[in-house]
Amino acid sequence: MSVDTPARVRPSRSGKPQGQWAVDGRAPLNHNEEFKAADNGLNVRDRIEQVYAKQGFDSIDPDDLHGRFRWWGLYTQRKPGIDGGRTAQLEPHELEDRYFMLRVRVDGGALTTRQLRTVGEVSRDFARDTADLTDRQNVQYHWVRVEDVPEIWRRLEEVDLSTTEACGDTPRVILGSPVAGIAADEIVDPTPTIAEIRERFIGDPELSNLPRKFKTALTGHPSLDVVHEINDVAFVGVNHPALGPGYDLWVGGALSTAPRLGERLGVFVAPGEVAEVWQGVASIFRDYGFRRLRHKARLKFLLAEWGTEKMRQVLEDEYLGHRLPDGPPPAPASGPGDHIGVHEQKDGLRYVGLAPTVGRLSGTTLVRLADLAEAAGSTRVRLTPHQKVLVLDVPQEEVEALLAGVEEIGLTASPSPFRRTTIACTGLEFCKLAIVETKGTAARAIAELERRLADVEPQLDRPISLHINGCPNSCARIQTADIGLKGQMIDDGDGTQVPGFQVHLGGGLASEDREEAGLGRTVRGLKVTADGLPDYVERVVRRYVTTRTPDQTFSA
Ligand code: SF4
Repeated sequence: MSVDTPARVRPSRSGKPQGQWAVDGRAPLNHNEEFKAADNGLNVRDRIEQVYAKQGFDSIDPDDLHGRFRWWGLYTQRKPGIDGGRTAQLEPHELEDRYFMLRVRVDGGALTTRQLRTVGEVSRDFARDTADLTDRQNVQYHWVRVEDVPEIWRRLEEVDLSTTEACGDTPRVILGSPVAGIAADEIVDPTPTIAEIRERFIGDPELSNLPRKFKTALTGHPSLDVVHEINDVAFVGVNHPALGPGYDLWVGGALSTAPRLGERLGVFVAPGEVAEVWQGVASIFRDYGFRRLRHKARLKFLLAEWGTEKMRQVLEDEYLGHRLPDGPPPAPASGPGDHIGVHEQKDGLRYVGLAPTVGRLSGTTLVRLADLAEAAGSTRVRLTPHQKVLVLDVPQEEVEALLAGVEEIGLTASPSPFRRTTIACTGLEFCKLAIVETKGTAARAIAELERRLADVEPQLDRPISLHINGCPNSCARIQTADIGLKGQMIDDGDGTQVPGFQVHLGGGLASEDREEAGLGRTVRGLKVTADGLPDYVERVVRRYVTTRTPDQTFSA
């Protein structure tokens, strides 16, 4: 069996201008840069409210529809009934429906039950009861009509939620530790910092024309629970021996088709300085990021060219105007970062981590969850980067009733290992880039594996993670799973093209049994049909539990 190295991010050698504003000037080098230069994406909101919502889908300017709408969390969704095998053959407009996906940003994953209820009600009223929890702590609606968007914004903003910069070449939702401020073993609480970044910089025109998306993560929890290695910028809680609690700064992580793990700059950032440093990194990306080619425009490509030393020096000299102290790396992860199950908070109350199946919920379920949480004495929930949800602040005596109630709405605090660690992207159902259906495939695989592998479950001291993508992009982080599945059409062995997956094996982020993140490897020729997925995973898991040595992890 030969092993392929995934495509890697390498420094540019073309010698051509890369569209770096601070180096090459601001002349747009492609159509995306042209429409962004012509009119800031944030400005489309007025046109949606004043024109498009009144005059309907056909009145929408193409650059707004396919470009600027994203600045407000809106993408057209895939027309139903188009086979994944035709995705590459059709023009984008032929794949496009007249309905939208709308993403609600939930910075830090933090929602009050009032907000959760509103999110659910909006889904019921305007999105055919769809509400997926994404692996970036967002909620994603489908079937949204442009006519309804102003009323959706009104209702969301009434409870201090927004879709501002939920997509587009902008600072996306800020990932935050789901147990921020409540965990007894927390090093530093990122809650005020997340709020400061959101209030100062989200929707700021100065940072709303970036080369591409810019992803942020903050955690102060020792379980390293925000997938920090795959964000453009991340702050990870550390205890500095002289300066006390603060953050270790990571930059340049991102997956997609050319994955690269983030790297430490080796600096310590005091909690009160995080927003300024975040602004500095985002501004470096704006000013020096490559804009010529879309597929080379993430911060990771600049990091590949500069290296960490230059990135640090430019940050300090040009953007902060002072040196940052050297700092220590984070300690190895203290435990699973998904927070599933019942746990004691530092104030003696409990938080309860619940698993849906691959993040698929409905507005009705979210409203009922808000009711159940309140009945248990809670007013707060948190979404996680693992498509899960936590109910906070539950008195011990209310836990049992809450656990019983959530089972009735399809959530559980004690999921099987397969339900616990399987995540899936949007896939063929709604995504225009998709080749393969994902959510239903994943749910069927989980049900099958629960049935077939009940006998080996007790031997799985750590669940094996299964991440399922509907195309070569990596929205479900396939390179960071024990078993990552990249959707594509494959030969079924009889010469017929059927939906299937290229298999990636052995990836993972830093965790309690893995000191450092590593990207999974594709195994040449190893592909599995969507229908054959349960058979394949069953074989792999059985082989692992019967052949491993004591203490051997899946990736080893
Ligand atoms: Fe769409 Fe591909 Fe992302 Fe899945 S991985 S949501 S199919 S772009």
